[in-house]
Amino acid sequence: MRPSYRNLFPAAAASSSATGFDTLVVGAGFAGSVMAERLASQAGQRVLVVDQRPHIGGNAYDRYDDAGVLVHPYGPHIFHTNSADVFEYLSRFTSWRPYQHRVLASVDGQLLPIPINLNTVNRLYGLQLTSFELDAFFDKVAEKVDRVRTSEDVVVSRVGRDLYDKFFRGYTRKQWGLDPSELDASVMARVPTRTNRDDRYFTDTYQAMPLHGYTRMFEKMLAHPRIHVMLGTDYRDIVHHVPWKHMVYTGRIDAFFEYRHGRLPYRSLEFQHVTVQPPQGQAHVLPVGTVNHPNDHLYTRVTEFKHLTGQRHEATSLVYEHPRAEGDPYYPVPRPENTALFRRYESEAEPIGDVTFVGRLASYKYYNMDQVVAQALATFKRLVPL
Ligand code: FAD
Ligand code: UDP
Repeated sequence: MRPSYRNLFPAAAASSSATGFDTLVVGAGFAGSVMAERLASQAGQRVLVVDQRPHIGGNAYDRYDDAGVLVHPYGPHIFHTNSADVFEYLSRFTSWRPYQHRVLASVDGQLLPIPINLNTVNRLYGLQLTSFELDAFFDKVAEKVDRVRTSEDVVVSRVGRDLYDKFFRGYTRKQWGLDPSELDASVMARVPTRTNRDDRYFTDTYQAMPLHGYTRMFEKMLAHPRIHVMLGTDYRDIVHHVPWKHMVYTGRIDAFFEYRHGRLPYRSLEFQHVTVQPPQGQAHVLPVGTVNHPNDHLYTRVTEFKHLTGQRHEATSLVYEHPRAEGDPYYPVPRPENTALFRRYESEAEPIGDVTFVGRLASYKYYNMDQVVAQALATFKRLVPL
């Protein structure tokens, strides 16, 4: 017989599962909210969503700060996807404001476009290369790497040591507390290199921000008469008291198993939010949405929200990201030994018949929002074949 939640984690006093909720969803972020919405609206289920935080939306939660500027308390969230299915699905709950994110990196006293492109190299070195010549330039400076395994390998094999040192090494050591040679290739493979002048951070087909913010979008997803939301509640406080038949769990997988194999490492951040008055006649203080600081300052990047949201307001709010070893689990750390530890938890999770694990924390994967939505939609289809 497959193990079930109740025989793995028995309650002091047994509770009945005959009535109540069909599904208990742990976590009201993208993973939990998509699952709840699908189960209620497509499978007719009664769903209870619990989150330990006092709000819905998970890390994508946004709110108006004291000055009235729309901010992302858990760091800047920019929506981008190549999936028409994901975009169409979310479009049921929000209209969009087209937005193409641009990032400049503060390097050698200049603000230069990142991802590295033709303008980056020409401005940094005072050259006037064409795209064609930049290809040859990269060929000349790139280091030969037989097997690309680490994040260092990815970058030095593409653009060579100098650009790696100036744009990537310091940023990564700050962000992760690790040298790029200690991180899987997948981390830096997130940032491409271009030989044209395209200075957008992302090139996905769909790039847009929810017109009235993420929280409004989540409110619409969860506003189904069969969905009940309980905030400020750790599921462990209610799991044996509220009747449910199935659980969708989107929290940390190691916490679910009470860390029995040890803790999965996470990198955390401290967000320093500030509101300032732009100089007379200006709406912004930064030239683009985000400025990265690979080599100066203790923070990695600063983001000005009005660029992302398009909000008009006389003040402007920014967030500085300070990497931390301790704190909320924001970034799973992609390294072989961590994947191996995750696999131990996953092999315990897999046979549990009445619990489904979804999302960035439960999958221990460095997923973007759209990947979590895609994972949740696919998981729903598997659970409830229509
Ligand atoms: P979460 O949003 O973490 O939701 C999980 C929820 O479960 C949380 O609200 C938590 O409180 C709750 N929970 C956990 N344990 C319990 C418990 N025991 N009881 C009750 N509730 C519990 N993605 C992009 O696509 N674009 C971006 O620009 C982007 N920027 C990012 C910037 C930062 C700084 C970070 C950290 C992430 C960023 N992401 C971005 C990734 C994005 O945040 C995630 O992909 C997405 O939020 C994951 O959704 P989720 O539902 O899996 O997890
Ligand atoms: N990175 C870097 N320099 C930069 C931007 C990114 O070294 O200017 C590296 C860094 O290790 C970072 C990773 O690339 O953690 C992924 O960058 P991304 O912007 O995708 O990070 P996220 O938005 O997920 O924090």
